[in-house]
Amino acid sequence: MIEKPLFEDIKNELIAQNRDPKEIEDIEKAYLFAKRLHEGQYRISEEPYIIHPVEVAKILVGLKVDSHTLMAAFLHDILEDTDTQPEEIEKLFGKDVVTLVQGVTKLGKLQFKSKEERQAENFRRLFIAMASDIRIVFLKLADRLHNMRTLNFMASNKQQKIARETLDIFAPLANRLGIGRIKAELEDLSLRYLEPDKYFEIAQLVAQKKIEREATVKLLIEKISQDVQKSGINAQITGRAKHYYSIYSKMKRLNIAFHDLYDITAVRVIVDSEKECYEVLGLIHSQFKPIPGRFKDYIAMPKGNGYQSLHTSVIGPRSKPLEVQIRTWEMHEIAEYGVAAHWRYKEKGSQKANNPTDMQFSWMRKLVEYNKEDTSAEDYVNSVKIDLFSDQVFAFTPNGDVFDLPVNATPVDFAYRIHSEVGNKTVGALVNGRIAQLYTKLHNGDIVEILTSKTPAPRLDWLNFVVTKQASSKIKQWFKKNNREQHIEVGRTNLEHELSKSIFDENLKSGEFDKIAKQMNYLSADDLFAALGYGETTLNKVINKLKKPESPKTPEFHSTSRKKSEKDIIGLEGLLYSIAKCCSPIPGEPIVGVVTRAKGVTVHRIDCQTLEHIEPERLMDIKWSGDNVSKTYNTTIRVETAEKMGLLKDIIAAVSDNNTNITYANVKSKSGKIGIIELGIELDNIDTLKKVILSIQAIPDVYSVKRIQTSYTLPNAPKRNNGKNNKNARKKKS
Ligand code: MN
Repeated sequence: MIEKPLFEDIKNELIAQNRDPKEIEDIEKAYLFAKRLHEGQYRISEEPYIIHPVEVAKILVGLKVDSHTLMAAFLHDILEDTDTQPEEIEKLFGKDVVTLVQGVTKLGKLQFKSKEERQAENFRRLFIAMASDIRIVFLKLADRLHNMRTLNFMASNKQQKIARETLDIFAPLANRLGIGRIKAELEDLSLRYLEPDKYFEIAQLVAQKKIEREATVKLLIEKISQDVQKSGINAQITGRAKHYYSIYSKMKRLNIAFHDLYDITAVRVIVDSEKECYEVLGLIHSQFKPIPGRFKDYIAMPKGNGYQSLHTSVIGPRSKPLEVQIRTWEMHEIAEYGVAAHWRYKEKGSQKANNPTDMQFSWMRKLVEYNKEDTSAEDYVNSVKIDLFSDQVFAFTPNGDVFDLPVNATPVDFAYRIHSEVGNKTVGALVNGRIAQLYTKLHNGDIVEILTSKTPAPRLDWLNFVVTKQASSKIKQWFKKNNREQHIEVGRTNLEHELSKSIFDENLKSGEFDKIAKQMNYLSADDLFAALGYGETTLNKVINKLKKPESPKTPEFHSTSRKKSEKDIIGLEGLLYSIAKCCSPIPGEPIVGVVTRAKGVTVHRIDCQTLEHIEPERLMDIKWSGDNVSKTYNTTIRVETAEKMGLLKDIIAAVSDNNTNITYANVKSKSGKIGIIELGIELDNIDTLKKVILSIQAIPDVYSVKRIQTSYTLPNAPKRNNGKNNKNARKKKS
C-alpha cells in the first residue's frame, strides 16, 4: 500500500507562503520525529495517530503562524502520549518549541469537576498560559477544532461534554482573539452535538434555500455591479448563508421559527480601500431600501477584537431583508484570522508600536505588557477575564468551589446559588475575609463566606438588590409560604393608611378589593393584601385600579390603532398611523412603516412576515422616539407547559412581577400532556417583554415561551395561504 504523503500539502502551502526553506526543513523534521514516535498508535477513529497532529498543523498553517508553532503542532501530544522527555525535544528543536509543547500539554491535563469550576478554572489556566505565550492558545484552538471535527467517533456522553466545553470556552476564546473562521466552525460543530435536531433542521433548511439565496445574490450583484464599476471600484461580491449557530442563536433570541427568519443570507463586498467601503455602502443604499437601525460602522468603531467592517441590512431584491458586510481585504484577513493576522503583519514589516493595526489590539497589547510589568498573575487573570466575559463574575467559596454569577451579584445571590437553605439562613457575609454588607457587589475572584443562622429568616428588602432569578424567586417563595397572616396584616394596614380608613372600609364593604384582586389574578382580597405585604405588588398598582374602576379590558384590547401620531414614532410626524396587529411591534424593537392607501401608515416589526409582499417603495424609515414611556402596547405570547395545576398562577405571577398587565389568558390542553396558555399582555417596551419571557422560562415545567404573530392581511396584498398562520387565527377566535 502506498502511504499518503501526509506532509506534502503542508509543504506546498508553506512554499506558497514564501517561507524560508530552512524553516520548512525544521518543520518537516518535527513532523518526521512525531511520526516515528506515534508509530503504532491509533485514534478512536482507527486512523494512525499522526493524522491528528498533521491536521492540527494544517489548521495552523492556514492561520499562517510562525515555524515554532507549527513544529509544536506536530509535537503537541508527544509528552502526553509517549515516553519522550522534554529535554529531548529541547535538544532537537530548541527551548521555544519545547515551551510551547509543555504549555499545550499542561492545558490538556485540566480536569473539571463541576460546570462552574470547569468554566472558571479553565479560563484561569488558559489566560495564564496566554500571558506567557499566545501561541499556546492558537495550538489549543487548533487541537480542539480537529477534535471537534472528529467528535463523531466518541461516545455520546463525551461528545456532549466536549461540545459544551467548546461552546462555553473555546468558541468565545476564538472570538475574543478575532479568529472568526475558527469561532464559526467550533460553534457549528458544538451545535451539531448539543442540539442535533436543531442543527440538522437548520442545515437542511439552509440547503433547501440555496437556489433561492444564490438567485437573490445574483440579482443584487446585477443591480449594483454597473454602478460599482462606473465608480472605478474593484469589488468582490459574494453571498452565503450565515453559519448555523448564528441562525440558531437568532431563532432562540427572537423566539421564532426558521421560516420566520428571513435574513439568513449575508452578502459580503470586499474592496481595496476604506474610502471605497463607504462608496459601496452609498451605492447599495441608493438601490435598496436600508432597514432602519441596522447600520453599524465597525470601521470607525472597531470591535474589541479588532474586527472592522460596515454592516447594513437592506430590503434586497425580491423584497427580502439581506445583510451586507463591506470591508477591505486587510479587514477581511483580520476578520478571519484575528490576532494571528495582525501578528503576521507585524512580522512582515514595521515593528513600530504606533502602527494603527497595533492600536486595535489593545487587549493583545495588554497580554504582552504583562510580561514586563510586575503584576501578579492573579490581578492579570482577573482583568482579562472581565474583558472577555464582562457579563459574568466568578466568586469562590473558602474551600475553592467556583460559582459564576451575573454582574452586580451580591453575597445573597451567592448564598442562594450554593443552596436555597443557605440563602434563607443568611445573616452576614465575609468577602475576602472581611465583613461585608449583604448588598455588596461581588468582583471576580472574591472569596465569599456566608454566615448563617440556625433558622431561616430571609428579608424582603433583599429583593431590592439581588440580581439572580434564583435568589429573588426563592425569597418570594419563602415569604409566600410563611407568615401569610402577617403579610395580610401588613398589606392591609399599608393600604388602609394610604387610602384613609373610611375609603378603605368603603371599598372593602362594596367588594371592590375582591374585584381588583381578580383583575390582578389573585383569588381574594386577602391574597391581594398578602401580595402587598410581601412586596409582590405595589400600593400604587392597587390604588391606580381604584381610581379607574371601570376596566378598559373589553374585547377591544386587540385593536391598538391610534388616531394621530403624537410623539411615539420618529419619521411619522403628523401622519395618521396604526400599529400593525399581525406583529404588534413594541417600543425598542426595529420597526418599519408601510404606507397604505386608506389607513395612513401601518407600523410593523422589521421581521414581520407580511413585509414579504410589500413593494420597497411603500416602506418608510421610522423608529421609536423614546417618548412612549407612559403608553402601553399589546402583544400575545404562547406558553407550552407541563399540564400541572397551579402553573398558570405561577406564570401570571411571573408576568405581573414585571410591571405589566395581563389582558387575557386562554388555557387549553393539547394532548393531555402539554398545557398551552396564551396570554395577552400590555406592556411598555421590548425590554419588559424580554424580561417577561425570561421569567416565564425560568419557571420549572415551562417548556417554551413564544411571542405569536397573528394572521393579518394587508390591504392590496395577496392573502397568504400559510397553514401556521391560519391555525393561529382559529385559536384567537376560540
Ligand atoms: Mn491533540
